[in-house]
This record gives sequence, structure tokens and C-alpha cells, in this order.
Amino acid sequence: MRRNADELAKMRRAGRVVAEIHEATRAAIRPGISTADIDQVARDVLDRRGAGSNFLNYHGFPAVVCTSPNSMIVHGIPSPTVILDEGDIISVDCGAIIEGYHGDAAYTMGVGEVSAEATRLMEVTERSLMAGIDQLRPGNRLHEVGRAVQEVAEAAGFSVVREYVGHAIGTAMHEEPQVPNYWPGSPGPTLKSGMVFAVEPMINAGTAATVQLDDGWSVVTADGRLSAHFEHTIAVTDDGPVVFTVL
Ligand code: MG
Ligand code: MG
Repeated sequence: MRRNADELAKMRRAGRVVAEIHEATRAAIRPGISTADIDQVARDVLDRRGAGSNFLNYHGFPAVVCTSPNSMIVHGIPSPTVILDEGDIISVDCGAIIEGYHGDAAYTMGVGEVSAEATRLMEVTERSLMAGIDQLRPGNRLHEVGRAVQEVAEAAGFSVVREYVGHAIGTAMHEEPQVPNYWPGSPGPTLKSGMVFAVEPMINAGTAATVQLDDGWSVVTADGRLSAHFEHTIAVTDDGPVVFTVL
């Protein structure tokens, strides 16, 4: 779907709130913090900005952020009993709604000093996101995004999660079409200005295979190795990709 200028302006505002949540949670994350504390920091930003949460109550999800440490890929539920330690990595995914329009973005960061492999995984995952974003140009085909993400991740010796993908976004968080982080065997729709997508590579240090835990949400790597997740909400414009989820 193509969004008009008024809709894009609202999505930019929603995106800025998401970026504020990222800034506030990044500043709060340190050894000893619980993932429930991260959720509270995010709630405070949403309240301050008068924004709604698109995560809270989504299919019953109980929080405004997903917090996924170490080998957890996505959809971790914040908990006062999950305490981050020095050397952990933590993925934080969150969204915001302004006047019915959605933003959605994620990052992974280290807690204190982390291993060289963790640092490289996070750096490569963010770089793969940027390579994907660069494909969001009018006339290009959507699945070039996944091709670009996959090239960066696999050149570094990492693997791309298949079961969870990006998506169009607008008046709902998850709209059609999906945005794979790999080449799915077909070029996909032709991009037009005014389309908005959430691109969100999940990159694993080892196998791409995933396992869902018994809580019905948390998804972890099948081999227990690290996973990283970066996401932005981006508009396709005649001037190139415009990232909404930045300050
Ligand atoms: Mg997200
Ligand atoms: Mg998303």
C-alpha cells in the first residue's frame, strides 16, 4: 500500500517515539538490570509521548517490548527474574502508535564487555540491515532486500533466520507483503514511493534453525549460539529510502 504525505508524517512521528525508546533503554541497560526494568523504561517513554503500544496485548503479549538475550532470537517476554549479566547481549524490539500509525524497530547491544564474536555478530547484523534498506527504492523489487541482507550475513560466516521476517507497516504493525531476509526464489513486488516496510534481519552465529519455547513466545537458536536482531521502519521515496525510526 502507498501512504500519502499526511500518513507518512504520522509514521515518522511514531518512528521517532520508537527511537526515543531505543535511546532510553540503551542508556538503562547495564549488568544487574532485569528485562522487566527495560519494559518499564519503554512504558515511560510511550506515556510521556502519549503514544500507544502495538506490542502490548498483541495476541496476548504482556509487555511493550520484546527482550531476547543471547541465544534468544526474538519475542522474549520481559521478566523481573531475567537479570542481565556482564558479557550478555540483549535484543530489544519495540513499537509505538501515533494517531493510528505504527512504528517498529529493534536493536541488539552488549551488556558491559562482550566477546569478539558477539561484537562481530551485532556489527554484521546491523550492516546487513543497512544493505537491505539501501534496496528500498522505487522500481526495485522487494526481494532484493533479502538478497542484500543474506549476502552480508553469509559472507561473514553467519546464518539468516527463515521463520521470522520483516513486513509492510502502516495502520497495523504487520501488513502484507512480508519482507524475507533471504532470497526466496522470486523477485517479489515492484517498489513504489509511499510504501513503508519494517526490515528486520535476525542473524545467528551458528545454525539458522530455531526452536520455540514452551511459553509460546520465546524463540531461540537450535544450537544455543548467539543471535542478533536489528530493525527499522523505512519509507520508499523518490529521494531514496527514508528511515523513520531514528531521532
Ligand atoms: Mg519489531
Ligand atoms: Mg517488525
